[in-house]
Amino acid sequence: MALKKLVAGNWKMHGLSSDLAEIKAIADAARGYPEVDVALCVPAILIERASRAVPGFAIGGQDVHFAEKGAHTGCVSAAMLLDAGATLTIVGHSERREAQRESDEDVQAKAEAALECGLGVILCVGEHLFDRENAKAVEVGELQIDHGLPDEVADFDKLAIAYEPIWAIGTGKVPTADEISEMHAAIRDRLVATYGEPGQQVRILYGGSVKAANAAEIFSVPDVDGALVGGASLNAADFLPIVEAAAAAVEAPRAIA
Ligand code: PEP
Repeated sequence: MALKKLVAGNWKMHGLSSDLAEIKAIADAARGYPEVDVALCVPAILIERASRAVPGFAIGGQDVHFAEKGAHTGCVSAAMLLDAGATLTIVGHSERREAQRESDEDVQAKAEAALECGLGVILCVGEHLFDRENAKAVEVGELQIDHGLPDEVADFDKLAIAYEPIWAIGTGKVPTADEISEMHAAIRDRLVATYGEPGQQVRILYGGSVKAANAAEIFSVPDVDGALVGGASLNAADFLPIVEAAAAAVEAPRAIA
C-alpha cells in the first residue's frame, strides 16, 4: 500500500522572527504539492508566530514533555504545543537522546502524551556508526522501536517513524539504498507485530543528509514514506526540490513485481 509521503523539516536551534519570510516561502510553494504532506518543526518559541504566518500549513515542535503540566522548568507540554498552533512534534531525535540522555521509555511516554493531545508524532530511531560497522544496526533499530512505540494509538495516520542513522545526520553520508530498505522493512515488521494490520498505515521516513541531489533515489527505496530533513530544510531553495522529488515519486510509482 502506497502511503502519502511526508516531508518534514527539522529546524533544530535555528529560526528567528526574521526567518518567518522563509517559512512563508516554503509553505506557499508546498501548497503546490497537495499529494505530499509537508511540515516544518521549528523551535518551540517560534511555533506560534510561524503558525500564524502560514495558516493551514503544518508547523511542529521538536520535542515535548511527557507530563501534562507541573514542575518541569524549561519544558513544554503537548497541550502547550497545540495551544501555540503546532499540529505535530518530533520525539526521540538522536541529538536529544544523546544530549538529554533520553531513554526509549522517555521517548515512548512523550509520544503517548503528544498523541493523546491530538498531535502527530515523528518518532526517531537510528544506530551509531559502531552499530552499523558491527552489523548491529537492525537489531538496535528494532529494540528502539520495541521499547519506544506508544502503546495506545487511536489514529495511525498521526504516527510516523523516522529512521535516522546517527552517523548520517549532518555529515553528508547516506546509507545505501539496500541498507535503508533493510531497516525500513524491519521497522515495518515490528510495527505490524505490535499493532497488527494498522501498523501498515504508519509512515516510515528516512532522515540523514537528505538533499535535492539524493532525494529522488531515497524516495524510490521500498517502504520509504517520506523524509525528515535537517540542514536542507532551512531555506526554500534547498527544501522544495526535496518536496518536488517526493511528489514525483508519487507520480511515478515503482514497478512492483
Ligand atoms: C536531522 O537532524 O533530523 C537531520 C536529518 O539532519 P540532516 O538532514 O542535516 O542530516
